[in-house]
Amino acid sequence: MTNQQFASQRRGHIGASDAGSLFSVGYGCQRALWYDKTGTDPDAGWTEPITFALGHALEPVFLRAGLLDIGVSRDEADEVVEVGANHGFEIRDQSGLLLCHPDAILRDGRIVEVKSMGAAAWWKARRDGLPPDYIMQLQLELHLASAPAGVFIIGNRDSGSIAIFVVERDAALGEKIQAQANWFWDAYIAGPPYSKTEPDRLDTGDSRCSGCRFRRQCWGGVDFETTAAPDSIEYDNSESLRFLIESHDDAQAQVRDAEAELQQIKDAIKGEMGERTAVDCGGRKVYFREQKVERIDAKALGAYYIAHRQPSDPPLEEFKTITVQRPLRIY
Ligand code: SF4
Repeated sequence: MTNQQFASQRRGHIGASDAGSLFSVGYGCQRALWYDKTGTDPDAGWTEPITFALGHALEPVFLRAGLLDIGVSRDEADEVVEVGANHGFEIRDQSGLLLCHPDAILRDGRIVEVKSMGAAAWWKARRDGLPPDYIMQLQLELHLASAPAGVFIIGNRDSGSIAIFVVERDAALGEKIQAQANWFWDAYIAGPPYSKTEPDRLDTGDSRCSGCRFRRQCWGGVDFETTAAPDSIEYDNSESLRFLIESHDDAQAQVRDAEAELQQIKDAIKGEMGERTAVDCGGRKVYFREQKVERIDAKALGAYYIAHRQPSDPPLEEFKTITVQRPLRIY
């Protein structure tokens, strides 16, 4: 099946990747899903972010690497990667509303999903676990296939690293997603009297709206940033900075994540050092020993000086506090 055929088939069904949007969680938005399923064209001038194309190109690579990593044979890995790339795996429910195309179904029945992510999102997922919409995507497939467990592979498109999550089926969650899909279709897509109802917008300023392909139509043809801004400011309505701003946000998120990651590593080193105070590791010196730190309360001392007209020998000890710290230093 070509990508165009796949996109057009998706319109008439709810797919597993729509699961997060059914609840507006993760990257998903119920209203964007409604636009999508009612065949609305994206805003004029909207262009697909380059990250989508990168995902299409890299996901088969990450999928194959992940499958080999979990012990799948080369023959089977090559076969399922090819079938998955052509949207050849399919799971349906009895009503025909739900139609899922997992990235792979292994010979032992395990369902596999793969996603390519930027470094910041990848590190966050590795640290905090899969985003909720990714979990829901796989859970819906596990539910429809009655499969006991699946595998989610995430690839870091900056470093090429992969991380693998084994996800066990949560029957209650699968049923809930299926019920929500039926409700959504009846409420917003199926014929009268519901077809004129529109799902609510996300809150003004929700970050999901900034890159949404339906943003102008959704917000009445006006950029919501402009309506939310003070009247005195005039904004040049332009997409020319979009790539740089996304890069800025991505880099800023990477810095935050790197700082959090560094703290985790330091904590791990401290744990590994235990009672040891100094270790030589491959020429690097690691110190983790207690130090007394003296501090003078300068404010209180200044007040004392004023009250006592600068005595020649002030009782400094009274203004001192001593704490014991155990800093980690690596040279
Ligand atoms: S602009 Fe925001 S609220 Fe509207 S469809 Fe897109 S993500 Fe949803």
